[in-house]
Amino acid sequence: MAPKKTILIIEDEPHIVLGLRDSLEFEGFRVLSAGKGREGIALARAENPDAIVLDLMLPDINGYAVCEELRRLNAVVPILMLTARSQEMDKIRGLDAGADDYVTKPFSVNELIARMRAIFRRAARQPGTPEVMAIGEAQVSFTAHTLVVRGHEQQLSFYEVELLRLLAERAGQPVSRDEILSKVWGLEAGPTNRTVDNFIVKLRKKIELHAEKPQHILTVYGFGYKLVP
Ligand code: CA
Repeated sequence: MAPKKTILIIEDEPHIVLGLRDSLEFEGFRVLSAGKGREGIALARAENPDAIVLDLMLPDINGYAVCEELRRLNAVVPILMLTARSQEMDKIRGLDAGADDYVTKPFSVNELIARMRAIFRRAARQPGTPEVMAIGEAQVSFTAHTLVVRGHEQQLSFYEVELLRLLAERAGQPVSRDEILSKVWGLEAGPTNRTVDNFIVKLRKKIELHAEKPQHILTVYGFGYKLVP
């Protein structure tokens, strides 16, 4: 039997921790929990969990700061953010802070577990692309989740990397939005086509010289997107 994967929950509301712990343990995960940000960071450092569920609203430090600190400790551990807010800006800020995915409260525990499984599936997939790829003036590292453009390095979120990886595997060919949704986000996650478009906009801003006139991440009208490295 494979060793149990450990999931760290950083959340101060006991009923949410209890519900998640029961369901995750039932699904075969080992569960650790912390009610404060600092305690969570210390547990992550000591226990090196396989994934982290992080609440945005904590009593001591806010979730964005906790997320950035967790990312400094470990560049690749999947972080799923819980947020009571539904504003797009909060979500974008969470993803920019290094979260891989987020779930808005009140959430279904089943959906959270499905997302967790999708994150692990993607992490286990054998890379079909080289570790580093040049796209125009940008260098993308699919393993380090970094992007270097004209000497400036930045961190890419999990979905940004997975989206680029899929487009890179099929460079020069159009990839449909439906295929991107099912392969990158997983059908059970239930995102919309707009999710794909929003991530494309973010990636163009990071990679393209002129995001409004893209040369590398091209729109295939009525279908999807195509990468021309
Ligand atoms: Ca909370």
